[in-house]
Amino acid sequence: MIDLRSDTVTRPDDRMREAARDAAVGDDVYGEDPTVNELQERVADVLDTEAALLVPSGTMGNQIAVRTHTERGEELVCERESHIYRWELAGPAQHAGVQTRTIDGGERGVISPSQVRRAYVEASDHRPGTGVLALENTHNSRGGTAISPEAIAAAADAAHEVGVPVHLDGARLFNAAVAHGVSAADYAEHVTTVMCCLSKGLGAPVGSMLAGPDSVIEEARRHRKLFGGGMRQAGILAAPGLAALSNRERLAEDHRRADRLAAGLDRVDGLAVEPPETNIVLVTTDRPAEAVLEGWLDAGVRASQFGEHTIRCCTHLDVTDDDIGAAIDAVRNAS
Ligand SMILES: *Cc1c(COP(=O)(O)O)cnc(C)c1O
Repeated sequence: MIDLRSDTVTRPDDRMREAARDAAVGDDVYGEDPTVNELQERVADVLDTEAALLVPSGTMGNQIAVRTHTERGEELVCERESHIYRWELAGPAQHAGVQTRTIDGGERGVISPSQVRRAYVEASDHRPGTGVLALENTHNSRGGTAISPEAIAAAADAAHEVGVPVHLDGARLFNAAVAHGVSAADYAEHVTTVMCCLSKGLGAPVGSMLAGPDSVIEEARRHRKLFGGGMRQAGILAAPGLAALSNRERLAEDHRRADRLAAGLDRVDGLAVEPPETNIVLVTTDRPAEAVLEGWLDAGVRASQFGEHTIRCCTHLDVTDDDIGAAIDAVRNAS
């Protein structure tokens, strides 16, 4: 079975398992886990932020960020197809008590500075104030689009000008950085906080990081405890996370394989595929996606339904060049 559903399906390799086994640990709720502390320092260094915090999932990292940046009754502004809005169970309403205002970022999900200015609401006797702007890069539901540091900076600056903090959902930030040939820090410098996942393209079994200024991360740490994300001997998770950081550069291989997959699938009758920007391939299907996926499954290929006529395929650490060829052949035979 070739599993293209998500880049989260990877299994930790021997190096990660050994790192977990051998990790020095302590109680991280007391701040005493040396491996967690090392990971947090490493990620803060990579992103060039003052601090970073290990959280169990990307969702929790985003939700802690929204909660930390806002007061109850304010507004979160984000892109219409953003993960925070679409795929996190109305978390901002539930955990932070905020209302969400969406902006349509078009086909690539890029929010312009003028859109940010138009969405901004000044608090008054009648209106909730804007509490935070959330951006996403790569933009998952828009097909893994890799937004440039300049475009992120432009939108973020428009928010900062009116005193609004900016959170970057960078679940796949390293994919964006590799696609643009820049460092992840080139994005982080423009935003207040950034979340990135260790458990997606980098291949760690568990874990995401929330990074930003010391004062914000200190408050985020309290919210992590509140949300039930205070973990004890979490060095067991941090150690494979540290090992996963060395998988950043190889993301280019996933992007190359995604290109090849897209080109191959586009040649199959009944499927249309735009060239991908990173490791996510969105396939438009003539027939209902659900029925198409059943055929693929019988042929040994798993992918995710993303819409009535849309399928998402992800390349990742556990997908080889041979797998790409085999997947294209299987899909062609299934159609
Ligand atoms: C996967 C993802 C998340 C959530 O990460 P989990 O670890 O699955 O909770 C958040 N944002 C984006 C853009 C994602 O793709």
